[in-house]
Amino acid sequence: MSIQSCALVTGGSRGIGREICLKLATDLGYHVLINYASNRDAAASCLAEIKSKGGTGDLLPFNVASFDEAENALEEWQKNNTDSKIEVLVNNAGVTKDGLFVFMENNDWNTVLNTSLGGFYNLSRLLITKMVRQRYGRIINLVSLSGLKGTPGQVNYSAAKAGVIGATKALAQEVAKRNITVNAVAPGFISTDMTKDLDEKELKKLVPMNRFGNPEEVADLVSFLASKKASYITGEVININGGIYS
Ligand code: NAP
Repeated sequence: MSIQSCALVTGGSRGIGREICLKLATDLGYHVLINYASNRDAAASCLAEIKSKGGTGDLLPFNVASFDEAENALEEWQKNNTDSKIEVLVNNAGVTKDGLFVFMENNDWNTVLNTSLGGFYNLSRLLITKMVRQRYGRIINLVSLSGLKGTPGQVNYSAAKAGVIGATKALAQEVAKRNITVNAVAPGFISTDMTKDLDEKELKKLVPMNRFGNPEEVADLVSFLASKKASYITGEVININGGIYS
């Protein structure tokens, strides 16, 4: 029985996550598990594109902010796919609820923290034991420029991403001996649904390259970190922001 190697990408239905799914399937040959929260059509279209390029994958919807939902979905998947193992985890799902801190609602804080930082904990905790046993793994966390420099109007998001950065560095050291790498990728402004309401014409003036990045450019970096070529890189936060900050 040959074992099928899989990559799980949270928030794989749209934006950066979608491109990561495509690259992991086509560049690295992974069977990609496309997680999403509610947008089934977008996730199905991502899977269709993977298949049109000769790759394979499955849809795996659940709310990353819920440990129980994630655990149930993964247990069910593993029960039906006993010949599969997850080698790569990309913690990509994230949301913003922007606003000045003086006006912040509890829910805006909790949702953003629970999705990015909670999502990191839930999925990494659920998969790390198997990665340790199989003595191989790649965990890649999508963080942000906001988690490094702090962005006014995004105290919640900056805190969530800074938390994931700390966790990345700590976990990397715990599991390095087991051939598991843990890294973070910190994009600046990338053209996706998350940034579609921003004033791109004004904001791109802040970027030395004078443009927003594309999801494909971020996905190429994630694909490299997920590959065997990146075997000696761990605990790193790699900026991808057109020169805006490092
Ligand atoms: P996006 O276009 O808004 O897509 C978000 C994705 O996350 C969607 O697939 C969405 O699923 C999924 N998602 C949201 N909440 C979820 C939950 N609770 N459980 C499962 N999936 C959930 O976002 P993006 O711009 O591609 O951003 C991807 C990552 O990069 C995020 O972590 C973000 O913080 C980070 N980032 C983005 C930028 C940027 O400029 N775009 C910059 C820095 C960092 P549905 O389709 O089902 O809603």
